[in-house]
Order: sequence, then structure tokens, then C-alpha cells
Amino acid sequence: MLGPVILAASRSDKMRRLVSAAPGTKQVVARFIAGEIVDDVVPIVRDLTARGLEVTLDVVGEDITTVEQSYAARDAYLELIGRLKELGLGERAEMSVKLSMFGQSLEDGHELALSNVRPVVVAAAEIGTTVTLDAEDHTTLDSMFAIHEELRKDFPQTGCVIQAYLFRTEEDARRLAANGSRVRIVKGAYKEPASVALQDKAEIDKAYVRIMKILMDGEGYPMIGSHDPRLIAIGQELARRAGRKLDEYEFQMLYGIRSEEQNRLAAEGHRMRVYTAYGTDWYGYFMRRLAEKPANLLFFVRSILTK
Ligand code: FAD
Repeated sequence: MLGPVILAASRSDKMRRLVSAAPGTKQVVARFIAGEIVDDVVPIVRDLTARGLEVTLDVVGEDITTVEQSYAARDAYLELIGRLKELGLGERAEMSVKLSMFGQSLEDGHELALSNVRPVVVAAAEIGTTVTLDAEDHTTLDSMFAIHEELRKDFPQTGCVIQAYLFRTEEDARRLAANGSRVRIVKGAYKEPASVALQDKAEIDKAYVRIMKILMDGEGYPMIGSHDPRLIAIGQELARRAGRKLDEYEFQMLYGIRSEEQNRLAAEGHRMRVYTAYGTDWYGYFMRRLAEKPANLLFFVRSILTK
């Protein structure tokens, strides 16, 4: 019940100010956000890769309001890629980007987001890595898939994300599986109306399994983004039945969540990628993590009260 309320709050400027100023917030945010600047995240990338894990890096931010901010987002990723190059870490760290941070919702936002994300994809390719386009709320997805298709003409390794809770997703999965895309499947983290998305958790899980099967049986590279032990086990079984080798799909989890399970899957020989978010504009990302698990909210409230 609390999830939708927290997700609504994740879009409120008033709540943003309140949460950001609360004592104790920083300590809880640090569980999910790897730091504020590139130099905070570098040792974490080193540590994760030394433990046999792969990484995808997200400079947090979304829903910007000016074109200048969209350029700043592009430049933040270019700085990150430059740093990974210097350190020789490019091949094990890919990037995840939110197109809203690249200007997608501004005037002529589709073209602006495409022109901002392209240099990031080019720079990533130059250091031997790639970019995945995150999925945001359902109103942004036609534009996201069109940008994904456009980028794939020159950079076929560019990935995208699909969300099991949306009615449209099985069809999207079929198209992407047939055209050989890298696709991350997730349950979905936004507050979506019943007109476009399943609302019942069990139904979302069933849809997730159907979509995983489409991806595993297809021509692309499935990326299973979930912490749900049941779905991970089913993913392994579907991969086995589809005759996929261990390097023909991967698991992905978020930094700070179920780290032992991340280590266990990597130790079993699975490709296990940790989605590692950093930056100063952490509010939206942080609130979605609270919405996913009520215990996180309780921990957050306690840490405020004990300060
Ligand atoms: P759940 O049923 O929510 O969780 C299963 C178990 O995992 C829980 O019981 C709990 O033990 C643990 N867990 C899950 N979430 C948390 C948490 N926040 N804190 C502590 N424990 C937790 N969503 C999008 O809409 N677009 C994206 O682009 C996107 N990218 C993602 C990338 C990755 C790598 C991952 C893992 C998730 C991403 N998500 C994205 C979020 C996703 O949609 C879900 O909201 C999130 O993964 C929770 O669903 P779950 O599959 O882990 O299952």
C-alpha cells in the first residue's frame, strides 16, 4: 500500500526538499548510491570487478527542466567514460542512461535526447563498452525504443530495458528478441495506471516469466534484472532449456541489494552485473528503492528519528 504513495512523493519537489534536508538521510542514501562524484565510484568499480562482478554505471538524474542540464548530463557520462579509459576499466563497466536526463521531455526532446546520448554511445564504444537505455514511465517508451533502434544502426550492442508490468511489453519483447537486441527485463519501478499496467504482484511475476521465455528463446542477449530468487531460478532453467551458454545471458542487480546473492551467482560462473548509481541528484532513484521494500522506509524513518 505504501509503495504508490512513495512513488507519488518521488515526483514532488516539496518532498524532495524535505527528504534531502532530513538528518540521517545521507546515511540511508549511501546504501544505494555509490557516491557523488566519479572518484567516489572508481574504487567501487575496482572492488566489484575484482570480485568477479560486472558493472553498469548510472549517473543519477531525471526530469530535468533546461537544455543546459541535458548537456551537463551528457558531459557527466563523457567524464565518466574518460576516467574508465584512463583506468583501463572500460570493458567490464557499461553505462545505463535515463533519456529524461538527456532532455527527452523538453521541447523537441526526442531529437535533443538522441543528439545528447549519441556521443556517449560513441565514446563507450571507443573504450570497448556499451550503453543501455533505462525504461522510465510509459509515456516515454515509444521515444526510447525509437532512439534505441536509431542507435543500433551504428552500435548494435546498445541495450534497452523493458518492464514486465506493462501490457505492451510482451510485444516489445518479441520484436527485440527477433532483432537480436541486448534487453534488460525488469518488473517496473514507476507508478503506472491500470489502463497500461498490471497492478497485482503475482500477475507481474507471471508476465515476467513469459517475457523471460520470449527473450531466452530469441536471438538477442537477455539481461535478467531482478533480486527475486524465484525469478532468478526460473531464468536459469529457461536459459538451460533454450541451450544458452553462461556467456549468452546475464543477471543484473542493484548496488546495495542482495550482495551475497550477487557473489554467489558470480561464483557459480554466471555473468552478474551490478547496477551502480552515483551522483548528487539521487532523490528519484532513492525514493523508488524505498517504494520497492517497506522495510527500507522503516529504516529511513528510524534513522531520521534517532538523529
Ligand atoms: P521484488 O519482488 O521487488 O523483490 C524481490 C526481493 O528482492 C525482495 O523481497 C527483497 O528481498 C529484494 N529487494 C528488491 N528491491 C529491494 C530494495 N529496493 N531494497 C532492498 N531489497 C530489495 N525499473 C524500471 O522501471 N526501469 C529500469 O530501467 C530499471 N532498471 C533496473 C536495473 C536493474 C539492474 C534492476 C535490478 C532493477 C531495475 N529496475 C528498473 C527496478 C525494477 O523495475 C524493480 O523495481 C526492482 O528490481 C524490484 O523488483 P525485483 O525484481 O527485485 O523483485
